[in-house]
Amino acid sequence: MREPTPMMKQYFSIKDNHPDSLLLFRLGDFYELFYDDAITAAKVLEITLTSRDKSQDPIPMCGVPYHSARGYIAKLIDNGYKVAICEQMEDPRATKGMVKREVVRVITPGTLIDDFGMEDGVSNFILALTETDGLTEVSYADISTGEIFAFSTSDSSELKSEIETLTPRELVTNKESEGLIHQIYNDPPLYTVFEAEQPSDYDYEDDVTEHQAINLLLNYIRAQNMQELKHLKTVEKHRINTFMKLNYAAISNLELLENLQTKKVKGSLFWYLNRTETPMGKRQLRKLIERPLVTKSDIENRQSIVSTLIDNYEERQGLTNILNHVYDIERLVGRLAFNNVDVKDLVQLRDSLHGLPDLKALLNSLQLTSTKTFKDFDSLEDAFERLVVLTDTPPKTIREGKIFKDGVDDALDKLRDISNNARTWLNNYLETEKERTGIKNLKIGFNKVFGYYLEISKVQAMNFDAEKHEYNRKQTLTNAERFITPELKEMESQILTAEDDSVKLEYNMFTELRTDMMAYVTRLQRTAEQIATLDTLISFALVSNDYHLIQPEFTKDKSIDLTDARHPIVERMLNENTYVPNDLQMTGDNFIYLITGPNMSGKSTYMRQIALIIIMAQMGMRVPAARAKLPIFDAIYTRIGASDDLSSGKSTFMIEMMEANTALQHATKDSLLIFDEIGRGTSTYDGMALAQAMLKYIHDEIGAKTLFSTHYHELTNLEDSLSGLSNVHVKATEYDGKLVFLHKVKPGAVEKSYGIHVAKLAELPDRVTELAADYLSSYESQNFNQQPAAKDDIFQLELPLDDSETVTKQDKKLLAELTALDLNNMTPMAALNTLHDLVNKA
Ligand code: ADP
Repeated sequence: MREPTPMMKQYFSIKDNHPDSLLLFRLGDFYELFYDDAITAAKVLEITLTSRDKSQDPIPMCGVPYHSARGYIAKLIDNGYKVAICEQMEDPRATKGMVKREVVRVITPGTLIDDFGMEDGVSNFILALTETDGLTEVSYADISTGEIFAFSTSDSSELKSEIETLTPRELVTNKESEGLIHQIYNDPPLYTVFEAEQPSDYDYEDDVTEHQAINLLLNYIRAQNMQELKHLKTVEKHRINTFMKLNYAAISNLELLENLQTKKVKGSLFWYLNRTETPMGKRQLRKLIERPLVTKSDIENRQSIVSTLIDNYEERQGLTNILNHVYDIERLVGRLAFNNVDVKDLVQLRDSLHGLPDLKALLNSLQLTSTKTFKDFDSLEDAFERLVVLTDTPPKTIREGKIFKDGVDDALDKLRDISNNARTWLNNYLETEKERTGIKNLKIGFNKVFGYYLEISKVQAMNFDAEKHEYNRKQTLTNAERFITPELKEMESQILTAEDDSVKLEYNMFTELRTDMMAYVTRLQRTAEQIATLDTLISFALVSNDYHLIQPEFTKDKSIDLTDARHPIVERMLNENTYVPNDLQMTGDNFIYLITGPNMSGKSTYMRQIALIIIMAQMGMRVPAARAKLPIFDAIYTRIGASDDLSSGKSTFMIEMMEANTALQHATKDSLLIFDEIGRGTSTYDGMALAQAMLKYIHDEIGAKTLFSTHYHELTNLEDSLSGLSNVHVKATEYDGKLVFLHKVKPGAVEKSYGIHVAKLAELPDRVTELAADYLSSYESQNFNQQPAAKDDIFQLELPLDDSETVTKQDKKLLAELTALDLNNMTPMAALNTLHDLVNKA
């Protein structure tokens, strides 16, 4: 191989330090990529792959123009790559030999500070994980807004669920903890194994102890951005217990943020609640949905603000109008802290701050500034004052002037006067010259090569005595001649110097302003957060008004009284007034509802509506019901539907069992459990046995409020043996020979022969339905007329053990295994799993 050129040597030395990034190497007006980087980028960006040094050892190469690089970089980031930006550190024209080049920043999906493919209404988290002696520390941050959090846990399912909920775009870990990532994800997002070098300096709340993870996170981010992180807020403890626990399964099964089938926002609780005006409000709404409150006074504080906003139409309108003009202050401030704002950003910041004094006055008149949420609202007049100097029509870059208004700076005004006066002078000069030369269509023009000139058409130029008029010919075109004069040149140099000077002056004034504005970062962040909250609470008020929601009360005695409750979203999707409201009454002694009813009768809708109402209530929101008295729940666990996680390669049944396991392991008596048709994914006996065992376990061991729908009619007998369990059913009826769903939840179990009844309606041959009825009664008399006897006797299944003729070798083996079980030392779940294995073998 040939000796590389000096430039390629420089390239190699830089690339060596960034092996896992695509290196964008600045060459004049382009960023070039070489070798494998070029091959990857050409494919992702759909640009042409060429080569350098075509003759000898061709080097694969591709490039993107400097001026349009943003879009290309965004695309690379969006595809999960890291991009290292290598700039020329010297002006090539002023340098002899090689220009110095350095990587000034590594852009990664989780360390974005500007809008490289960041979604407006979604937090952009980067998350660091470290593990020591079984305790995992987690720290995560959104660099675009400066938020940073930490928590630790030794519970691996809690860790998985919390991280899945956060959906970080990028992960960092150290060597020892790398294995964790593969425990959490089958298909992890971009991650880097990194070792923190220096301890970081940061503020943190008292109970934050996760210094290892925070330090790793901050060191990594700093290494990518190569700058101090001035805007990072105090590290906040992510307190798992100060919010209602909603794991990833619950958030997706209950369709809080997106519809399960379409994966779109439409049809989700977020969609229903979102009337926010700002991207900050949108992000805040997501957070409030994912983390409902558990402290009564906090919930009531939100409720009372929402009520105030509902009751005061005019003030609310006024606030909305102001919010309508507020940009994404949080992200603007993020860029400000990185010294990365352009004129447009500061103009947007100014326009966002403009309405804040009025906003504060409105909050005052509603007495909201005395609430915890809006206490000490800072309307930042002084910051606004600093920005009034900026123009209303910001230029694209900060190197072309026209940044500041007239009258802001004497020196700038003077320079501008010169160029303005010069224009008047040029007009007057043209008039005088027209007179002097007698050429009526004499023109003045400007080009980059020789500046201002006078232009005479070809015809006129033929009779024109240039020398006499002291005109110097500069250029001959097909139909015109161009001249310059000493006066014109004199004025030109005045104009150009003035323009040059004013551009330089404005550039300096702007960078100074930008630096000065950094002093406001903390105050801006605080106000931005309050605005985001206001935006969401106004959204709550609007939704409450439009859908006739009522304010729930919180009971101390843990009973539930919901009257005429509706499913907010199904109701909204249905035609007006066709939704059938339903009740739920639960006292302390009656806490499990076993719900039966034919398919499509509304079992699942009923259970989801209860969960959504509880979530909305604890968000401080009003709820769709005529009356609502609720306890405060610490968690909602769900086992709903067939959320086939095909990508993970697990069977539907396995997922069903895993979700059930999480619920059974973590639920307390203050939790809500929603089990929709558990056991569907396996054989009938198997499924029914599991369902029954789970009900008994919930009843005896957990005491959580539970809504349990089932198609195993036999389970309804449990009402006799489990005192806390009540049967309810969703009513359907026959009308005019057709099955009509009434969607009404009634006490008691559904009629037994419902399936056969439906079959009759479907006009199956009489012989078939008669036979089916016979079979059914024989099944019932054989197997399901017995109730569990002793407390530990989880489920009695009649195995034909006493009939020696039918006992096979296999049966004996099973029996041996069964009797060998040490029931006293098994967890219910282990017992279930063993039972499951046994039934499978049988
Ligand atoms: P199941 O779980 O019993 O199979 P679903 O809860 O999925 O039934 O309900 C089936 C359909 O019935 C829903 O998609 C909805 O359109 C309608 N539905 C359910 N509950 C009601 C109700 N209370 N009022 C009106 N329509 C309802």
